[in-house]
Amino acid sequence: MEVRFWGTRGSIATPGPHTVRFGGNTSCVEVRTDAGHVFILDCGTGARPLGDALAAPVDASILFSHTHWDHIQGFPFFAPAFEPRNTIAVYGPHDGRRSLRDTLARQMELSYFPLEMSQLPATLSYTDLGEGAHTITGARIVAQYLNHPAVTLGYRVEADGAAVVYACDHEPFGGALWRGDAAAGPVESILHEGDRRHARFLADADLVIHDAQYTPEEYRTRKNWGHSTFEYIVELACSAGVKRLALTHHDPSHDDATVAEIERRARAVAERRRAPLEVFCAFEGCRVRVDARGVTRADAPATAHTPTAAVAPGARVLIVDDSPVVRRITMRALANDGYVLTEAGNGREALELIRRDTPDLVILDLVMPELDGLDVLKALRASPTTASLPVLILTSETDESSTRAGFDVGATDYLTKPFSNPQLSARVRACLGRAAKP
Ligand SMILES: [Zn+2]
Ligand SMILES: [Zn+2]
Repeated sequence: MEVRFWGTRGSIATPGPHTVRFGGNTSCVEVRTDAGHVFILDCGTGARPLGDALAAPVDASILFSHTHWDHIQGFPFFAPAFEPRNTIAVYGPHDGRRSLRDTLARQMELSYFPLEMSQLPATLSYTDLGEGAHTITGARIVAQYLNHPAVTLGYRVEADGAAVVYACDHEPFGGALWRGDAAAGPVESILHEGDRRHARFLADADLVIHDAQYTPEEYRTRKNWGHSTFEYIVELACSAGVKRLALTHHDPSHDDATVAEIERRARAVAERRRAPLEVFCAFEGCRVRVDARGVTRADAPATAHTPTAAVAPGARVLIVDDSPVVRRITMRALANDGYVLTEAGNGREALELIRRDTPDLVILDLVMPELDGLDVLKALRASPTTASLPVLILTSETDESSTRAGFDVGATDYLTKPFSNPQLSARVRACLGRAAKP
């Protein structure tokens, strides 16, 4: 495969003399297989120069991670969509409120753009993707939900005996990456199940293209904004046996000197870990040739996925929290997602409700009088009817031992308060999507 970066900036385009080296266009990466098929990962403003470089007839697949502006704004300016000889297949997640096609069409309504999406002359198809493995024009594409305040998919493109992973936008799941009682390094030492799953998704990849928007210093005041630090992803990539790591989604406030400094610091992290990992900051125009390393693809643990079905509208979500205020905030966060929401004020009431009518997902507080969340979860896991019921723990307990206790007794996910509405909405959606039977 041949990889080429057309947009490496996060959030908003930043043209000007301070960004000439790493580039000012927003997210867009071209992955071309040896058979000549073009996969386009996101269509930020970098999609415009990419489109101009593709000669008709074009047969391409666009994989959208999510539909925040910096990942879709180049789509209306993607010239191949204006040529009737071209065929473009568009893929991306359903955000729970509307389909990918609807969301893309909305940014081309006449208030925003002079031509509606339905008038594009090329042959375009739109497919909502869930988590799992999909075969698209000869390549195996594994999609996995990321941690971002929008339903977001990362993609692992497996073709020509090699694997390229694209993961933008993504934030660490856990407050800390490693368990306090284990040596940093092995995947088993990772504290939060979400980060462990992410490491398995990257396993043995020949190239990982990853969000690294912040320095660790900046991240302290930007938690829950949905982006990673270079330190987090370098550590994970070392653990996952990744060969090369391209840091991207550069912060709009970072000039070339700042990004170069991030590259230097990121390399120092890999050196400290004594890992044979090549790290660089992606720049516009950067080309990377990805050849097979002889890693047997079937051995990659991430290939165990099966595609997940779309979440059925009207999924039933039970919110368990002793605080009426938190229950109200949680209900409000999910109000527009089309779920049927019910609530319980304590553990006993929750078990009673679940026994009578099992919901599709439980959002569970930990510290409650009488029967606390861990006891509720233990009771659920002990019963065959609720052994695999998705349970998202939502708690103020940010310490390591609570996180571990939650996963040890079988939590599906663990999210700490305070949370943002879109963050909770995306995490609930991922839990439900993962649990849905294909
Ligand atoms: Zn972004
Ligand atoms: Zn985003």
